Formats: sequence, structure tokens, C-alpha cells
Amino acid sequence: MRLAAIPSVDRILQDPRLAPAVARHGRLLVVAELRALLAQYRAALKSGAALPPSADAILHGLLHRLDASMQPSLRRVFNLTGTVLHTNLGRALLPREAIEAGAAALAEPSNLEYDLAAGERGERDEHLEGLLCRLTGAEAATAVNNNAGAVLLALNALAAGREVPVSRGELVEIGGSFRIPEIIAAAGCALREVGTTNRTHLADYDKAIGAHTAAILKVHASNYAVVGFTAAPPESELAQLAHARGLPFVVDLGSGSLVELERWGLPAEPTPMRSLAAGADLVTFSGDKLLGGPQAGLVVGKRELIEQLRKHPMKRALRLDKGRIAALEAVLRLYLDPARLRERLPTLRLLTRPAAQIAALAARMRPALQAWCGDKAQVDVAECASQVGSGSLPIDRLPSAALRISSAAVKPAAIAKSLRAMPIPVIGRLHEDAVWLDLRCLEDEAAFLAQFEGRTL
Ligand SMILES: *Cc1c(COP(=O)(O)O)cnc(C)c1O
Repeated sequence: MRLAAIPSVDRILQDPRLAPAVARHGRLLVVAELRALLAQYRAALKSGAALPPSADAILHGLLHRLDASMQPSLRRVFNLTGTVLHTNLGRALLPREAIEAGAAALAEPSNLEYDLAAGERGERDEHLEGLLCRLTGAEAATAVNNNAGAVLLALNALAAGREVPVSRGELVEIGGSFRIPEIIAAAGCALREVGTTNRTHLADYDKAIGAHTAAILKVHASNYAVVGFTAAPPESELAQLAHARGLPFVVDLGSGSLVELERWGLPAEPTPMRSLAAGADLVTFSGDKLLGGPQAGLVVGKRELIEQLRKHPMKRALRLDKGRIAALEAVLRLYLDPARLRERLPTLRLLTRPAAQIAALAARMRPALQAWCGDKAQVDVAECASQVGSGSLPIDRLPSAALRISSAAVKPAAIAKSLRAMPIPVIGRLHEDAVWLDLRCLEDEAAFLAQFEGRTL
């Protein structure tokens, strides 16, 4: 047994070359990582798989482990997937104004729930309600953790223990764990299925309403389209029917935009303004989808119903923290000046980026990528189509440009893996036996180029 050949923890710690690491990481972490490293060496020695390590090998191994343990889990990446609002890559990027407001709210005390004029307890919703009402035309507004939470809260507060009719064409799964039938069940309501998958008529809703009905729910099908022989009553007719039967009409818009996107040549998306004008009593939508803000679920509509949500215990459990309230307020303020919105709101800026500008960027980046690939792969500039993401219709595509990396020698999956192993991981898309890097969302050219310098595939 050569275990004695491994020096003790105390002896290694005396090596003066470790002093900077101890100063940086603290003694506790250095000792813990050193013990774990020595245990590995001992196991390898026992199994005869290795020779005793040199003092230098131990030192280098330890420094490597310390670096790895300090690497944050949540890291910056380059989103070159072509999906602008990519749920797995963090959705909307906040404008500078919102980041500064959020950081300031986290660093200092604030009037989060304090009425400065009266000198008494205030309401955290107040920082957002005025702006939301002004922008949507609603009477009242509230905000919670995310849109899934907003739907859960609205259903539980208005309809627990009773029935909610929903069209069979709207019983959708939005991705991950948001499925309409399940959220209705989780809210303690009974789903009443109405009509058919492709066609649902007002008369179907009328028949479904009975003594146990609590509200009519309409869900924007988001990332799923029913096309062809289809029918669905307009929101205005659903609102009329609901009101004639003494029920609230609730609309889950999902993404929901606060501006008409056609103005910038983008595919049309439903807006809370239009749903409210059609007679909806509550409209819910996300903060970090097309709105371009922090994760949040917004609810706008009738004052009496919003008050009901506010008083509900679930509201407390789903409430927004001060950092996001500050960031959301700053983003909503940008909407007061729609003429400058495109330059100030990153989501809108990326969605409206001209294809010719992206193609020019791709041409500039191509030589650096080709140098990284050497003669192992070819890089060319190719036309492609980006998507909005996060529940906007996947059939609406935005013309864009990509760096396409293809190779006879290296598998696309292996190239994609190398790109993900960069200091700032580069996330692309595999398509037609190549790696596609859609450059629509690449704004930091310098950081992107810098990390390819001196590296090879
Ligand atoms: C995205 C979406 C949700 C969930 O919103 P989150 O903000 O992600 O919780 C709910 N309903 C619809 C229709 C959606 O598109």
C-alpha cells in the first residue's frame, strides 16, 4: 500500500503557493475541496489505477476544483437558437432602465408597502396599478409571480368548488407543466368541456352553463393553432353571454402585448386592451413574454374582482418581490412613449431587427468561426427563420440569417457540444445535419468574437 505516499492535509496547506487561494475562497472551502481530492487519489491508489500524485499535481488539482466550485450555476449564454423569447434561456431581456430600478430597490429600503403621504402601511400593487390601468384602459390591476399564478389565483378566487366551461379547442398545454385542465383542477374548480376541438359555438357555451357555473374562461391557444374548418365565438359574444347569466368572463391571453405589433410589421398578437373592450372582466398575461419585462403575471379588469383577488390568501403566496416590482414599473413606463419603445425595449428591438442587418453581422462573424473550425468544418452564411417564442404562433416566422456549420468529419452534435463548452456557452440549433447559429439575438459582437480567439474546434 502506497497510501502513506499521499501527504497530509496539514502539510499541503503549508505550501505558500496556496495562500492566494485561501485568501480568495476562505480556508473552509479550500480544506473541504482538498479532502475530497485526496479521497479521490486514495481510491485510485487502492484500486491500483494510479501512482501517488506529486505535490504539484495535488496543487493543480486543488486549484482546478476550487475554480469549478466557484463557477456560478446560473450563467450567461449566447442565445443563438433563433427563438427570441426562449423559456429555457430566460425569456425577455430587461432594458437598462429596469435593471437599474430593480437593483436600486434591492440595495436600499423603499416605500414598497408604505404610503409616504399618510405615513402608514400601503399596498405593493400601487406601484403598478396606475400604469397598468392607463396602458390597458382597465379599472383595476394586480400582479403576481407569473401568468400561471395569475390564472390559478383568478380561478381559485372566483370559482373554487364550482364549474368553469372551457372550449375543447383551448384545453392546451403551454409547455412544461402548464396544462389548462390541470390548472383548473389545481385551482379547485371543475372543468366543463365545451364544443369540439376545431369548432365551438356560442350555443355550446349556453348549454354548458348551469347552477354550478362560476365563470367562463377563454384561453389563448398560444403555441398551437387550430386551422381549417374551425369556429369560435368572438370574445364580445362570450362576454355578453356571461353577463346575461350573471357570470364573470375571464381571458388568459398568455403572452399578450401592450402595443399593436403590426405597427412594426410583426405578426398580430391579442392585446388586453382589445379583450377588455370586448367585455372581458379579467384578463391575465405574462410579464416576461412579449411585454419584455421581468417574470410576472398581470391581471387587469373590474375593480370588484381585482379586490377579490387581492384579499385572497393565495395572492400573498404568489406576490411579486420588490426587485421585480421596480423593474416592471420601469418597463411599463417605457410603454408611455411608444415611439421610442423599439430602441429601448430589447425584446421589441430583437424581434424587429432587419434580416439584412443580421445577414451583414453573419458575414462579419463568419471568418472568426471558420478560423475556430479550421479544416474540420465549413462555416457559411445561410438564410433562416427566427421565431418569437413563448407561446406566440410557431407558424409566424421572422426572416433572419445564420452561421451554418457543417462537417463531414465531426458530427453536428459534437460541434454543438464544443460551442456549449465555451466560457460563455453558445447555444445554437441542430437542423439538416448542421449546427445553425441564428444571429438575431447576438448584440454583444465583441464578447462573442473574443472567446473564439486562440481556440479551435
Ligand atoms: C405562457 C402562458 C401561460 C403561463 O405563463 P407564465 O408567465 O409562463 O406562467 C399561461 N397561459 C397561456 C395561454 C400562456 O401562453
